Amino acid sequence: MTRTEQLAAKYPDWDNWIWQVKHRITSVDTLSKWFPLTEKDKSDIGQCLKFFRMGITPYYLSLINPDDPDDPVKKQCIPSIMETYPCGDDQTDPLNEDGDSPVPHIVHRYPDRVLFLVTLKCSTYCRHCTRRRLVGEGDRIIGEAALQNALKYIRRHTEVRDVLISGGDPLVMATGKLEHIIQGLRDIPHVDIVRIGTRVPVVMPMRITDELLDMLKKYQPIWINTHFNHPNEITPASSKACRKIADAGIPLGNQTVLLRGINDNTPVMKDLMYKLVHNRVRPYYLYQCDLSRGISHFRTTVETGIKIVHDLQGFISGFAVPKFVIDAPGGGGKVPINYNYQISHDEKEYVFENYEGKIYRYPEPERYDEKK
Ligand SMILES: *Cc1c(COP(=O)(O)O)cnc(C)c1O
Ligand code: SF4
Repeated sequence: MTRTEQLAAKYPDWDNWIWQVKHRITSVDTLSKWFPLTEKDKSDIGQCLKFFRMGITPYYLSLINPDDPDDPVKKQCIPSIMETYPCGDDQTDPLNEDGDSPVPHIVHRYPDRVLFLVTLKCSTYCRHCTRRRLVGEGDRIIGEAALQNALKYIRRHTEVRDVLISGGDPLVMATGKLEHIIQGLRDIPHVDIVRIGTRVPVVMPMRITDELLDMLKKYQPIWINTHFNHPNEITPASSKACRKIADAGIPLGNQTVLLRGINDNTPVMKDLMYKLVHNRVRPYYLYQCDLSRGISHFRTTVETGIKIVHDLQGFISGFAVPKFVIDAPGGGGKVPINYNYQISHDEKEYVFENYEGKIYRYPEPERYDEKK
């Protein structure tokens, strides 16, 4: 039996997501009951908790192998003293989301879509969270007046056809509250698609209930993006959550953050992408780690991400290859950064490499400028 199965057998409410939220591990004392900690660990974690809170569902904690000091799940949820080390490049709001926020809770950066931050609560707080300036600051959920104000903004901006509900984790809200928000969006004729960004399939898969999916199905087209970073996060429970979402007719994408010591190499990333597509989850973005405070120990070089995607492109199914992006510091948006396959070109031909590094040429049409 896995550790997860043992605990599920021990706690009758294990598969109830409300129980998981209630039993989140948020203090050093509780953590030490679940997990062996040295005195130094305890004081280090205590230090970190002055800056960013801890919250770990019993389910996610159960994925950790306590004998592995480098466990990838542990690194993502248990604070490390490195979070307290200052780094000169750190920024409180590296993506300048506050600067692109016309009304509270809305970030309107791109022409046809907005980010709608509806809650600051998550079931598990990721140590690498890019939005750690806000997330975990209390468990605040958007109030009715603020919701109506945000909806008013979207209603007035007829160019908005895609609303990305994020946070925090929107799926930690009660289904009724989430439905109220989605209904509000569906009442706006120009809102075409509603997207939900959530880490629930990874950290609290039992949240993906029939009740939730029956609600979401009423408001199609809905898209969900989740956030798997390591193959160890793909378990029978998370696979089932993904299967249920896909069976509900909701396309499911995945955004991975490139994290030092967790997934910054090709074999791990390839294994993750294979497992995602097996579960009908389409890899979407691979993010270069942002410049948020206290996460510099997670950053890799940009070259690392370029190399990993180059190692995958052509070698595995095309739809299993995520797009590597840097979310430009200062608020420039997501920019794809690619290996450069082009070698040279002039008006006669393009010269380029294929995935194996062999050189090919494509002759340009002779008279493209002339009218046909
Ligand atoms: C990421 C993001 C989006 C969505 O971008 P896509 O490339 O369409 O996934 C929208 N608004 C903001 C502010 C974002 O950061
Ligand atoms: S689930 Fe998302 S918003 Fe919540 S802590 Fe993790 S990265 Fe941050």
